[in-house]
Amino acid sequence: MFDRREVTGMKYGNCLIDLHLHLDGSLSPDIIRKISRLQNETCTLNDQELEERLMVSEDCKSLDEYLEKFEFPGYYLQTKETISAAVSLLLEELHEQGLIYAEIRFAPQKHKERGLTQEEVVLAAIEGMKNAPIPASLILCLMRGDDTSSENLETVRLAEKYLHKGVAAIDLAGAEALYKTHLYKTFFDYASSHEIPFTIHAGEADGVESISYALLFGAKRLGHGVRAYESEALMKSIKEQNVTLELCPTSNLNTQIFIDLKEYPLRTFLSFGIPVTINTDNMSVSHTTLQKEYDKLIDIFHLTDEEIKQLLLNSVHASFASPEVKALLENKIKGRID
Ligand SMILES: [Zn+2]
Repeated sequence: MFDRREVTGMKYGNCLIDLHLHLDGSLSPDIIRKISRLQNETCTLNDQELEERLMVSEDCKSLDEYLEKFEFPGYYLQTKETISAAVSLLLEELHEQGLIYAEIRFAPQKHKERGLTQEEVVLAAIEGMKNAPIPASLILCLMRGDDTSSENLETVRLAEKYLHKGVAAIDLAGAEALYKTHLYKTFFDYASSHEIPFTIHAGEADGVESISYALLFGAKRLGHGVRAYESEALMKSIKEQNVTLELCPTSNLNTQIFIDLKEYPLRTFLSFGIPVTINTDNMSVSHTTLQKEYDKLIDIFHLTDEEIKQLLLNSVHASFASPEVKALLENKIKGRID
């Protein structure tokens, strides 16, 4: 079985930060087994079978097929106990993998199948962060979809209510090409006027137009944003507005945005001066860890220690953490160099 704790010789291997990590897409077989017991079910699948249920196949065709992989873990995230335990166990695993900070995102409206309210879901996730071995924050996702308006509004209001009490921001997730970004303006207007920070999945399945709207809404970070490389004018705007891209390389291969990581526009963004960060998106679905993402990029793009340090510092600066936590993280990374 794939050992997520595998640590390579990377100089900053114990200073990693993930800003784009979905709870449901990042549960290991071990976590699934533990939380299934909490809802009085015995998961009889072995590790191999569990991994097959959780991860996409090599020939995953699109973001829509990729999104189907969330149904299986989602089934186990419908009670307060399992949600708290999943967050807690995930943070322990991240700590073991060398992370020093993480922002975990999920859509509260996707966890109501057994009668929980969105607020109960959020409180359960906050509970799961208590006594965590590393600092962490929650990002609440709004969902793209036919009938999500009232649920989305509730999510934004919950983010406002629990801001700085575990919740740090909101996001917009789901099938980007089917449900265009411009349809969700109201929610981000609300977030802006109520000082709720936000990131938006944009420039993944949909391209330049989606990113343009996210910038217009005032997003300071873009979930992926990788297709910005298709327009120099857009890259210029991203740079001017100091917007950070949450890059998730393996995930982009899974959803066929790129066929080979050699095509990945990392160097384009770096030379353009756009702040980019490296993230996993969904560790289980993409069968990866943050260490693996860095290792792949180091291998292909021959990143120097200085460049790796800058990527990690970009994560600190773009994070939705408090100034105190940011200072702590920055010191850890800088202390690693000297
Ligand atoms: Zn994502």
